[in-house]
Amino acid sequence: MAQLYFYYSAMNAGKSTSLLQSSYNYNERGMRTLIFTAEIDTRFGKGKVSSRIGLSADAHLFNQQTDIGELIRNENRKEKVHCVLIDECQFLTKAQVEQLCKVTDYDDIPVLCYGLRTDFSGELFSGSQYLLAWADKLVELKTICHCGRKASRVLRFDGEGVAIYDGEQVDIGGNEKYVSVCRKHYMDAISKAKERRR
Ligand SMILES: [Zn+2]
Repeated sequence: MAQLYFYYSAMNAGKSTSLLQSSYNYNERGMRTLIFTAEIDTRFGKGKVSSRIGLSADAHLFNQQTDIGELIRNENRKEKVHCVLIDECQFLTKAQVEQLCKVTDYDDIPVLCYGLRTDFSGELFSGSQYLLAWADKLVELKTICHCGRKASRVLRFDGEGVAIYDGEQVDIGGNEKYVSVCRKHYMDAISKAKERRR
């Protein structure tokens, strides 16, 4: 029986590398995979999943309107799909996570989702919220803070290196920088930024 997986982490924990490796493992055994990524993330060009160590693969794009379940079933009718892999899955809507549950349960295709758990203000993304609630397997991909502790938070810094703690949830490609840190260093950076603002 197929299962729905949520591989979650802070940033730069090698999510895309892990996704591409899984896809490769299927392909190597002659099995077909479908890869999706969010339309919002065009850092590496549209319709591509790229890892920082130089691997890449073509991907279908999804936005909030995409009927991802229908798209997968159409592809599966054309040629058997053995595994679905979704990058930037934090951007999935509740309805899309429901669609992926159905793909897993009714079409019996394993679905592997890779994404961030929380945003820079420490709140869950919508996709992550429902994947945490409904996935069969939760797998944390670990990365470390500069202090050596596990990094579980993402800090967003402005151009001057001051932590940003409010504003839009998504801002890819601006001058801002994102850094993964532990909870303690997240709190430290936020209180420093708040003092500065006073
Ligand atoms: Zn730390």
